[in-house]
Amino acid sequence: MKLLKMWIGLLPLLSLPLMPVVNAAQPNCAKVKATYQCPDVKKKINLSFDDGISDVTPKVLDVLKREKIQGTFFILGNKVDCSLYENSCKQGNEAACKSLNLCKQRVSTLNRMKREGHTIGSHSYHHDRHSELPATKLQWNIQKSKIILADHLTTEPAVFRLPFGDGWFNQKAKPQAMEAVKRNGFEHIGWEMTAYDWNVDYQNGDKILDNVMNQMCSGKGRQGVVVFHDGDFEKEHEGRAFTANNLARWIPTIRCAADFVPLTFFKKKLRVK
Ligand SMILES: [Zn+2]
Repeated sequence: MKLLKMWIGLLPLLSLPLMPVVNAAQPNCAKVKATYQCPDVKKKINLSFDDGISDVTPKVLDVLKREKIQGTFFILGNKVDCSLYENSCKQGNEAACKSLNLCKQRVSTLNRMKREGHTIGSHSYHHDRHSELPATKLQWNIQKSKIILADHLTTEPAVFRLPFGDGWFNQKAKPQAMEAVKRNGFEHIGWEMTAYDWNVDYQNGDKILDNVMNQMCSGKGRQGVVVFHDGDFEKEHEGRAFTANNLARWIPTIRCAADFVPLTFFKKKLRVK
């Protein structure tokens, strides 16, 4: 009897007309374009991510996969150099063994990144200010990253981004870093727009999205490569969780004013290996 009453109680729900499924994540593009004063013609944009691999990188890869976006990742060599921990772990150092396991996880994320068709480049071995490095250290940093990342670099020539852009935007005053990048066979990739997501002041609400939209839309607007971060160079495995956690929400808004393209759209001389 009790069951019958429950069943009867459910009947009105079952007889509701089928409602169309509304995806709450879809923004009102007319409103978005008016808010940011975007031009009518869509811009082209390539999403790039620096400082990984970190523990939030898989989350970024999930979003890009769902959205069918081919991103560009500039990887720090030391994040995927597991030889750093192997000897100490073999000697019974527990902390080193833990670090080794985390490193192996990062390498498997790097393998996934390549499998899923993203462009992979070097962000050097250590996150140093390259224009301030002595010549030998400068050369070592860049060359070592090329050796560590050799199996994962996806283009010919391989792409490279100097940490902090240091040595790139100030190359006239300090040409040695860009010279070393070229000498090691890399093509340097700067950026046309930046999300400023490394700045904690912007890690709040949609300020990072606003940064990108304003640069892309205001005036004649800009197109090209935009910098985000999927890692934190100061920490071994903690990433910039804010970007990874909010990227899925920002992409549909960016799509109102831009088409996502691979890096090779802008850099015609790159050959995909
Ligand atoms: Zn960086």
